[in-house]
Amino acid sequence: MREGVCRDSAPEVFFPHDGAGVALAQQVCRGCPVRAECLEFAIDNRIADGVWGGRSERARRRVVRGREVDMTFVADGWRWQGCQ
Ligand code: SF4
Repeated sequence: MREGVCRDSAPEVFFPHDGAGVALAQQVCRGCPVRAECLEFAIDNRIADGVWGGRSERARRRVVRGREVDMTFVADGWRWQGCQ
């Protein structure tokens, strides 16, 4: 992402090996103007590794699961919760 604040950062920062590394990457992402687009890119392309859009791999899986639950609500006629 050309407009990302990470454009001058080392790529390794966004592929951390522990929670402290994830927190550091998230700190960089926090002020990024293309955070939402970055997250959607990672989800759309099923990127499993790294921190994208300020979300870890685990956090992205939670976002996807949350959206799947929302779709179930629509199919069952329950109140739609919308996408995150
Ligand atoms: S959200 Fe994070 S990883 Fe994505 S472009 Fe911005 S700084 Fe880079």
